[in-house]
Amino acid sequence: MSDHSVLTTLKILIIGESGVGKSSLLLRFTDDTFDPEQTATIGVDFKVKTLTVDGNGAKLAIWDTAGQERFRTLTPSYYRGAQGVILVYDVTSRQSFNKLDAWLNELETFSTKHDVVKMLVGNKIDMDKREVSKEDGLKFARKHQMLFIESSAKTKEGVQCAFEELVEKVIQTPGLWET
Ligand code: GDP
Ligand code: MG
Repeated sequence: MSDHSVLTTLKILIIGESGVGKSSLLLRFTDDTFDPEQTATIGVDFKVKTLTVDGNGAKLAIWDTAGQERFRTLTPSYYRGAQGVILVYDVTSRQSFNKLDAWLNELETFSTKHDVVKMLVGNKIDMDKREVSKEDGLKFARKHQMLFIESSAKTKEGVQCAFEELVEKVIQTPGLWET
């Protein structure tokens, strides 16, 4: 008997430097839209979406930063209770990649679940200009025991996969989502 069919609400966070495409990834995933004019000032607080993974329903509450990451003021309550985290960088910005360590440090400091599942996402692969190779992304992810995928919120590539694989791993991690 599996009790996974019970609709569980999972708290998923999206973090990373301003402008890497966090809000765009969220809106692509939840509403299947993309706005090239998406501005850093327009942030969503969070969105709810139901996802079926391996026949198990999961209700996701996905938290966006509402632009506050610009001031580096993501608070402990933002991180509290999260089971899954999507850490995003922009493959056309080496600077956004170089800041990943700082984001992991912050996550480590504030996370209340030490086995929180982490997904590294290299976004904007539709653009010609690239400053971070796929190999560099993969290497970083391996080093920090993270899942990894490259994506484009513009063309949809990798977006659904990023959320699904994260949620799948959360559901497979005992004690992380129950209670
Ligand atoms: P956030 O600050 O991390 O939430 O980033 P936004 O979602 O606001 O995106 C910042 C800018 O990058 C916006 O102009 C988006 O339209 C653009 N953007 C986001 N994702 C992509 C992508 O995958 N490809 C391209 N070409 N542009 C993107
Ligand atoms: Mg945003």
